[in-house]
Amino acid sequence: MIGRKEPSSGPSQSSSSVRYWASFFVWKRKSDRAGCVLNIRNVQQAIRRWHGITRATGQIRWSEILGPAGYMPEPKCPAGGTHRFRELIPESGVLAMECSLCDLPENHKPDSFVGWQD
Ligand SMILES: [Zn+2]
Repeated sequence: MIGRKEPSSGPSQSSSSVRYWASFFVWKRKSDRAGCVLNIRNVQQAIRRWHGITRATGQIRWSEILGPAGYMPEPKCPAGGTHRFRELIPESGVLAMECSLCDLPENHKPDSFVGWQD
């Protein structure tokens, strides 16, 4: 009969390791969300600046906003989500970019974006 060997680290040590990783993932999820919301905000403000200067109507010319010729590099979701970009210039209160991780639990969307429009 083969007896099961106890792990060399005692039970209290392994449960504190579990707690460490659990709190790490909570922190990481919050940090990723904050980074992604900041990207969404920066894109929204870049759109407004671009629109204020060009007075464009209709389609957003993303190449003038993101990338080497634009206002900011193309953002990447820190958690690996993919971004959806609107084709048309958004009305007030509509986001120009959304993350595929916008639903819970990741919740990569701003709680409110009042005041981002100017
Ligand atoms: Zn995201």
